[in-house]
Amino acid sequence: MTEIKIAISCADASDTKSLKVSQARQQILDSVSPIQAEEKKPLRSALGRVLAETIKSPLDVPGHTNSAMDGYAMRGEELPADDTLALKVSGTAYAGNGYNGSCEPGCCIRIMTGAPMPTGCDTVIMQEHAERIGDDVIRIGSGHRTGQNVRYAGEDIPRGSTVFEVGRTLTPADIGILASLGVAEVKTRVRPRIAFFSTGDELVGVGETLAEGEIYDSNRYSLYGMLRRLNVDIIDMGVIPDDQDALRKAFKDAARIADMVITSGGVSVGEADYTKPILDELGDMHFWRIAMKPGRPLVFGKLGDALFFGLPGNPVAVMVTFYQFVQPAIEILASGKAKQQLMIAASASRDIRKRAGRFEFLRGLFEQDDNGKFTVAPTGTQGSGILTSMSKANCFIHLPEENAGVAEGETVLIQPFDALI
Ligand code: AMP
Ligand code: MG
Repeated sequence: MTEIKIAISCADASDTKSLKVSQARQQILDSVSPIQAEEKKPLRSALGRVLAETIKSPLDVPGHTNSAMDGYAMRGEELPADDTLALKVSGTAYAGNGYNGSCEPGCCIRIMTGAPMPTGCDTVIMQEHAERIGDDVIRIGSGHRTGQNVRYAGEDIPRGSTVFEVGRTLTPADIGILASLGVAEVKTRVRPRIAFFSTGDELVGVGETLAEGEIYDSNRYSLYGMLRRLNVDIIDMGVIPDDQDALRKAFKDAARIADMVITSGGVSVGEADYTKPILDELGDMHFWRIAMKPGRPLVFGKLGDALFFGLPGNPVAVMVTFYQFVQPAIEILASGKAKQQLMIAASASRDIRKRAGRFEFLRGLFEQDDNGKFTVAPTGTQGSGILTSMSKANCFIHLPEENAGVAEGETVLIQPFDALI
């Protein structure tokens, strides 16, 4: 065979010029600083936002000691040890409309869930554990405990206590808690503005007709989809052709209006791949190669004050690199910290071929059996242009650099796409 001098490429398993995935991730996370600007938001719009103020409780939650059950409120000191006890029902307490009198010895008060505990009562017998033996007489047995079925004022949140710290990303439970405190609006951090565009002379927008050699631009749609699930302002700048002047202008415009600029395509070593030289010219390029598949050519740097990600053009590589690197960076921009990735151990349901040297992110489909045990298999052909491998998947299978192939039954780590918030 004729010998020629060849360059390292994504076809090589061992790739000494590229960063390891963990190094790239660390470098990216180290260069992001959180947005500090603040704005007030009404409670519903604050969902998913990051708090810019400490919330202290203005009141006790619950606000008053109340019943946790529908039943009968009574004096715990009267509970029978091993006998039965008849009690006269001398009134009724509703949630929002308590009993005004006090409960005398030998009596009880019919009480509904959430109603304030009547004076003199400290114990609730649930309705199902009381026997009606007359119009206004009940009988209870033994086995009860003083204080049962009672919720105490401030037992969830005492007045004056710190409920949420600055930097907290508000969940559905959190806005429920804020509502229970009567808080109608909160100070939040302004959310990240993310501008993105596709690059490539071959790209055509949906709704247009394809000429010979053209393809529809799909990356802007998957990017939009991934960004929509985060709490960010999305600025879609369309398709920019492989033209240096047009690209320079788009780079500058994007950096002016956004905290982060994401492009796709044009990051490889082809003759129309201008992302690297233009970032070098207008900003700072931190690195452009990661020993991973898919997604090896990934450009990361700064463009003015904005963070810059030049993602590869291949549709699967866009999604893999977004989830592994861009999303954590957006999380830091928004809140100061990246969420911990949920990883689950699963047994491979078939052999997986791989050579040691680079990190591979396969698109996988996991299943969980009745005992909670996970199995996983790759979703068919794994080419970086095969977007169906991604839409059929429900997880990434992580095969780190040192992994040299997986035998059926071996344990691998998977990263599920969906997890309850
Ligand atoms: P590039 O990195 O520009 O060489 O692109 C790599 C591959 O991804 C080529 O086959 C492109 O046609 C394809 N590609 C680039 N951008 C897009 C896009 N926005 N939508 C779909 N495919 C794309
Ligand atoms: Mg291109």
